[in-house]
Amino acid sequence: MHGILCMLLLHPMDAYLEQELGRRCRLLRFCWEDSPQDLRDDFLRTHGPSVRALVTVGASSGADAALIDALPRLEIIACYSVGFDGVDLARCRDRGVRVTNTPGVLTDDVADHAVGLAIAALRRIPLADSYVRAGQWKADGLGKYPLTTRFSDKRVGIIGLGRIGLAVAKRVEAFGCLVSYYQRRKLQGYPNYTYSPAAAELAANSDIRVVACSLNEQSRRIVSREVIEALGPSGVLVNVGRGAHVDEPELVAALAEGRLGAAGLDVFEDEPDVPEVLMALGNVVLAPHMGSGTRETRRAMAELVLGNLEAHVLRKPLLTPVA
Ligand code: NAP
Repeated sequence: MHGILCMLLLHPMDAYLEQELGRRCRLLRFCWEDSPQDLRDDFLRTHGPSVRALVTVGASSGADAALIDALPRLEIIACYSVGFDGVDLARCRDRGVRVTNTPGVLTDDVADHAVGLAIAALRRIPLADSYVRAGQWKADGLGKYPLTTRFSDKRVGIIGLGRIGLAVAKRVEAFGCLVSYYQRRKLQGYPNYTYSPAAAELAANSDIRVVACSLNEQSRRIVSREVIEALGPSGVLVNVGRGAHVDEPELVAALAEGRLGAAGLDVFEDEPDVPEVLMALGNVVLAPHMGSGTRETRRAMAELVLGNLEAHVLRKPLLTPVA
C-alpha cells in the first residue's frame, strides 16, 4: 500500500486499522463529525488535492458529492462497514472512484445482536437488571415484578433476507419461530420461509419484525405508520438496518402510547442523538449502533479494508467492490 501517498481518515476507527494505515501510508486524520463547516473547508482546501484514498463508514456521514468533489485525486473509498448508503455512488462512478465495503465478516455478530435485542425487549432484560441492582428484589420480592412475554415460537417477519436477514432466520428457527420475509426479489431455495410481497402484509402476519435490509430510496421509512399499526400493541420491532428505515416520530409515539408493544433499536435516524422520549420508556431496548462491535469482527473488517486498499495499489481485483 506504500504506493498510496496520502490516505484520509474521517472518523476515529478501530485502533489496529489506524495503526496499520499509519504504518503503510501517509495518514491524514480529521474528525469530520466534530468539526464546524469552516474548519472542514480549511482542511479540504489545504489537504484535499493530495488525498488519493479515503477510509470512512458507509452510514449517513460516509462521503457525499461535495466531499468527493473536494478530493480531485481521489481513487478509492474503502468503507469500514457493509452498508454504503452514505457514499454517493453515482458521483463515484462519474469520477471513476472505486468503492469497497466489508460484507460477510460481520453477518453473524449483527444477527446475534438482532436476536439478543428481540429477547431483551420481550423478556424486559434491562428492567430485570435494574430491578436487582436497585435492591427491589430484596426489598419487594418478586410479587410486584411484571410477567414478560415469551420469545420462542413467535412469528418473525424479516425485511431484507440478505446475509444478515438469513442469519437471523437461521437463529430464530432454532427457537421454533416461523419465518416470513419481505424484500424486492422472492428468494429461491428457502421453502420454510414465507415470502410477503408487501411490507405492511408482513407486519400483519408477524409478532416480531426485524429490519435487516440495505438503505435506499425504496426502503427509506419502509417501517411506516401503517406498518407500525399492523404490528400492533403486542408487536415488537427490531432495527439493525439503518435509522432511516423507520418513521421515527411515529415509532416513538406508538411506543409511548402502547400502540406498539416493544422495540429493540441499534440504529437511529440522527445518530448519536436518540429521541429523549425513548430514554424513559421501559418497553424499548437501546443500543449505540454496535451490531458488529466485537473484537473478532472489527479485526476482520479492518483486514478487509486493508486487503482492498492493498489490492487497489497493486492493481489487482478488489476483494469486495461496490463500484
Ligand atoms: P445484503 O446481503 O446486501 O442484504 C440486503 C438485503 O436488503 C437484500 O436481501 C435485499 O433484497 C434487501 N433490500 C434492499 N433494498 C430493499 C428494499 N428497498 N426493500 C426491501 N428489501 C430491500 O446486506 P447485509 O450484509 O445483510 O446488510 C444489510 C444491512 O444491514 C446493511 O446495508 C446495513 O445497513 C445494515 N447493517 C447494520 C449493522 C449494525 O451495526 N447495526 C451492521 C452491518 C450492517 P432485494 O434486493 O431483493 O430487495
